[in-house]
Amino acid sequence: MAFIDNFDFEYLKNEAENLVIKELGRQLETYSEPICLCNDCVLDMAAMALNTVKPLYRVSLLGSLYTASAMDGKDGKGYASSVREAVFDAVEKVRRNPSHELHEEEEGLENTDEQ
Ligand SMILES: [Zn+2]
Repeated sequence: MAFIDNFDFEYLKNEAENLVIKELGRQLETYSEPICLCNDCVLDMAAMALNTVKPLYRVSLLGSLYTASAMDGKDGKGYASSVREAVFDAVEKVRRNPSHELHEEEEGLENTDEQ
């Protein structure tokens, strides 16, 4: 049996993912510029932000404790604001430089995920 099969590595969770996705939702909800919200762009934003923030891995079985304490106190404030900044920068970068061509000069960019 391979090493990877001997342990429950699927219990490893990067809590930063949840935090970044929640923050991304918040920021896009109130975003004032026209912005593409297709699946590609939104996932690009999430990936970019996640590459910027410090990972926050936990073992999901007993993990909520660690996450809770990482988000509390002076350290937690620092982490929360680094998530806000990373998401803000990622949104700006993708808006200015989407991974696909702009759809007809900034029109109808509001919500282009029609599948
Ligand atoms: Zn897009």
